[in-house]
Amino acid sequence: MVALRQARVADHQSAVVQQVVADQPVDEGAHPGDELGRLGGEHCFATEVAADAAPLPGASWEGLRTLFSVLDDRLFAIAGRALQLIDWDRSHQFCGRCGARTEPRLHERVRVCPACGLSAYPRVAPAVMALVRRGRELLLGRGPHFPAGMYSALAGFVEPGESLEQCVEREVAEEVGVEVAKLRYFASQPWPFPHSLMVAFTCEWAGGELRPQAGEIEDAGWFDVFQLPKLPSKISIARSLIDAFAGQIRGEFGTGA
Ligand SMILES: [Zn+2]
Repeated sequence: MVALRQARVADHQSAVVQQVVADQPVDEGAHPGDELGRLGGEHCFATEVAADAAPLPGASWEGLRTLFSVLDDRLFAIAGRALQLIDWDRSHQFCGRCGARTEPRLHERVRVCPACGLSAYPRVAPAVMALVRRGRELLLGRGPHFPAGMYSALAGFVEPGESLEQCVEREVAEEVGVEVAKLRYFASQPWPFPHSLMVAFTCEWAGGELRPQAGEIEDAGWFDVFQLPKLPSKISIARSLIDAFAGQIRGEFGTGA
């Protein structure tokens, strides 16, 4: 059982992920919609406990964010899904259109309003990350809240009605004033704080000079791939994106220079 307490999850893997056999009764209040998937062949369910609940024996309560680099990827994914589903369930107890109390469905992950019929599904908010190349340089920027000296790829949330490609073009234009072309998908990463999906791209500079957006981008610059600044931690998708693209470009220009 992945137990959650106010956006917290216990981190002792063997203690928190217990076998829940399908033909045994699940905890009171749980139903098939709570199932998170399987881990090591065993069904996992999410449940919320009281804010002052004591941890299971041998376990402790830890913020999921701090466990990002600690838990293995599959357990983090299950815990992240649990956090998002609990948050969604808690945030959709009442209909956003008419205010009536919503009801869960037994065989589908949705909360439905009995008064007006509105269905509320778990939300996923897509965001894009863009790493722009110009020759052997990469465009990196830093937000006002970044650790001192650290630069990263640009990123922003997708707006309604926008494709991922359009979002990359708009975000880069808004944040630093340059045009991009030749977008290529790199990878994606779910980020359960609270419900994002980051989709990373590489692209090529197609025109324009750097004009960092006031308030959003504290500084931005073109960095030679052989002389990159301080970058985000190794476990982030931003770092994977930068390492992979910089490595490719270094290969094109030889290892010297
Ligand atoms: Zn309603």
